[in-house]
Formats: sequence, C-alpha cells, structure tokens
Amino acid sequence: MFTSINPATGATIETYPELDADGIETALARAEAGFRSWRDSSLEQRTELLGKIADAWEANKQHLAETATREMGKTLASAIAEVEKCISGFRHYAKAGPGYLEPTTVQTAGGGHAVARWLPMGPVLAVMPWNFPYWQVIRFLAPTIMAGNVGLLKHASNVQGCAALIQQMMGAAGAPDGLFQNLAVKSDKVAAIIADKRVVAVTLTGSEGAGMQVAQAAGRALKKVVLELGGSDPLIVMPSADLDLAAKTAVTARTQNAGQSCICAKRMIVHADVYDAFLEKFEAGMKALKIGDPMEKETAMGPLSSVAQRDTVLEQVERAVAEGATLRFGGEKIEREGAWMTAGVLTDMDPESDVAKEEVFGPVAAVYKVADIDAAIALANDVPYGLGSSVWTQDEDEIERFARDIQAGMTAVNALLASTPEAPFGGVKLSGHGRELGPWGLHEFMNLKAVMFG
Ligand code: NAP
Repeated sequence: MFTSINPATGATIETYPELDADGIETALARAEAGFRSWRDSSLEQRTELLGKIADAWEANKQHLAETATREMGKTLASAIAEVEKCISGFRHYAKAGPGYLEPTTVQTAGGGHAVARWLPMGPVLAVMPWNFPYWQVIRFLAPTIMAGNVGLLKHASNVQGCAALIQQMMGAAGAPDGLFQNLAVKSDKVAAIIADKRVVAVTLTGSEGAGMQVAQAAGRALKKVVLELGGSDPLIVMPSADLDLAAKTAVTARTQNAGQSCICAKRMIVHADVYDAFLEKFEAGMKALKIGDPMEKETAMGPLSSVAQRDTVLEQVERAVAEGATLRFGGEKIEREGAWMTAGVLTDMDPESDVAKEEVFGPVAAVYKVADIDAAIALANDVPYGLGSSVWTQDEDEIERFARDIQAGMTAVNALLASTPEAPFGGVKLSGHGRELGPWGLHEFMNLKAVMFG
C-alpha cells in the first residue's frame, strides 16, 4: 500500500494499493499494444489529443492543484501555477511538435541524398519525483505523445493521488488505451520493468542515488536513459547588479517550493564590494517570508514535503554549523504537527566541508563572499553538480564569462531560473545527462532514421 500524508497536518489523506505482478504484466502488454497503433497515428491526431488533454487540465485546474498541495505541501498558488505550466507544455508540443519532427534532407557523396526522419521508439518508462508532481511528468508525457511513443509512469510513493489524477485526465481527454499508464509500484520493481523487452528506454528525475540505480539497470539492458538529477545551483551577484532585484529574486529562488526544487538557488556567491549590502537585503527578505497554511493565498512557504525530508535538512544545517559555518538565523524546526521549519541563512561555510558539496533540499541558503569573477566561477563550479545557475550583473563581458565558464546546463541572466517548454532543460556532472523540453526533449527517445537515396 501507498499512504499519502498531508505534510501540513501529519494526517493520512488516502491509501493506494500497489500493483501486483499480474497488474504489471497487463500494463506492459497494454503498452506494447498501445504503441502498435499509436506509432501510426498522424501528426494531426497527436496534436488534437494534446489539445484535448490541455482542455481537461484546464477544466480540473483547482482539483489538480489542491491535490498536489495536500499531498506534498506546496502553496496552492504555486500548485495552480504548476498546473498552468503543464497546460502550456501540452499546448506547446501541440503547436510546435510537427515542426520539430520535420524531416531534413542532406546531399550525399556521389550525387545522392539522405532524408533524416524522426520515428517513434516504443514504450518509455518515466520514474518521477514528488516536488513538482505534475510538471515533472508532463515534460515527459507531452513529447512522448507527440513522438508517437507510449508512456509508463512510476511516480514517487508520496504523490500517488497526483499520479492517479494524471491518468484520469488522459481518460477524460479520450486518450487511446495503453498510451499512458500509471504504474503504482515501489522502486524495487523498477529494474525488472526496465529489463522487460517491451520497454525501450527510461527517464528519471530524482536523486543521484536513484539515478545510479536506474542507469545501471538501463545499462545492463543497453537501453537509453535520460537523467535529471540534483543540483546545488549558484546565484552570483556582481557589483553592477540591481541589488534589490537580485536579493528579492534570491529569496524566491531559495524558498520556492519550500526549497525543494532541483533548480533552487542554493548558494549565493557575492562579490566583496556588494556583499554586506546584498546580505542585509537578502536576510530581510528571508526573515519576512510568510510561512503558514499552504492553502492560504498570502502564504509564501508551507511545510516541507515530509517529516523525513525536513529532518534531512535540519541535520544538514546542524552538520554545517559543526563544520564551522555560522547560522545567522532560522533553519529550525517549527514545533507543530507536520513537516514545518523556518527559512535560514548560513555564512562562513567552508567550501571544502561535506555539506558545502551536498544539495540542501530545503529553505536554507549558504552565502559566500568572493574577491572577483574568477573566484566566483571557481566556487560556482566547485560542487559535483552542474544543473542551473543565475548571474546578476550589467557587464556584458562578465555575462559572456559566466555563460561560457559556469559548468551547468542552464544560466539565467538577471532573472529567476525557471524551466519553460521551449528551452532545453537538463544538467552536466552529477546533475545528469540528456535534455528535456523543446525539440531536444522530444528527440531524446526517437529513432533518427536516415533514408538513403543513391
Ligand atoms: P528520489 O528519492 O530519487 O525519488 C525520485 C523517484 O525515484 C521516485 O519515484 C522514487 O520512488 C524513485 N526511486 C528512488 N530510488 C529508486 C531506485 N533505487 N530505483 C528506482 N527508482 C527509485 O528523489 P526525491 O528525494 O523524491 O526527489 C528529490 C531529488 O530529485 C533531488 O535531488 C532533486 O534535485 C531531484 N530533482 C531533479 C530535477 C531535475 O530536473 N534535474 C527535478 C526535480 C527534482 P519512491 O518515491 O517510491 O522512492
């Protein structure tokens, strides 16, 4: 059984039965059959279905959002924004998808030509986390549908209500049988599903531990894998930055989703000339954060997703302090039922300490002072991760340096880093490999066939 617990209250919401071996076998057979027909669907059928799914999500926006808030504690406002982003994801692939799949013709030696065509591959397994329980799935599902593939979802154990709703929305939109199936299974079933010959590839968004397990299973079966893993994103502030905007954005970037986003800015790296001024503004914003009932409109931050997740963050704060960091304020447990804690700020972190190298998946920021741009880039790159980054400067040369030298899949310039359906999303180093979204995400699980003409 899976149990959904409301992290705002500690109360059990619902239990969900786990799929047994027969259920998994039926789903795999259905995926195979579903692919046999969906692979032959026209581009018009695919775009039409994507539009209908977007309509179903639009019609059920409030219910979808409330379910996410109840299951993992994000504010209702951010849950509604997440549902809207999913709708825009479906609509994006409906509109741009056919263009992304246009064949390309190249001339070949000897006067012939080759046509490079994008063909579907088959059933793809997605293993997804709870932090954006809809968007993580939709950025896999929308391109899956457009590609002519079919999808199988193993969602995180604590958001099975959201997973069931995603399935329901597909039914409401009239999706054909086998196009998408939610597999209510625990992680110990994943390796066998990857090994099954009917599954052609796997994508995982989650921790590096899970990524390694899934990549090993995919490697044993020689199947393609895309990994979207953790991050410890830097937010770099240079002397020419708009400090008010940088500090305000840094607060949002650190505390959105209660600090549980892979692309949260987790390390603020600030030039010495503006360090004191930035720190004052940033701390004021972190202290003013309204923590409370995630269903309330004016709440900026609710609980963390679970007591276990909250306790992991508290333990990291404790360890950082033991390793020499200064906890300027916050980063403490709030004594009430559920998974509550305050936002906090750490300074004087030793960049070589264990915690400094880890991802802190909660609302506690580390603020560092650096002497110049070289030191900023060196520190930004001095973690095993390479997912996102954001840089605050008006200097064009500095922007170019950051764009070129920060080891990350994404760099936002004078802006909050956020994924968007049009742009590639993914990381380097231990943040994973492969890309989601835009044409790149669509092409990851397609067969680029060369049709050769002499
Ligand atoms: P997690 O424990 O790795 O879980 C993610 C998913 O993997 C869940 O469905 C989980 O199932 C499953 N899983 C866990 N261990 C597995 C294993 N050995 N074999 C197969 N599946 C396994 O991650 P999390 O703590 O829920 O999520 C937070 C992490 O995700 C953070 O590191 C965050 O940075 C990362 N993340 C990355 C991105 C990105 O795009 N790069 C986006 C969001 C989050 P169960 O729930 O059943 O354990």
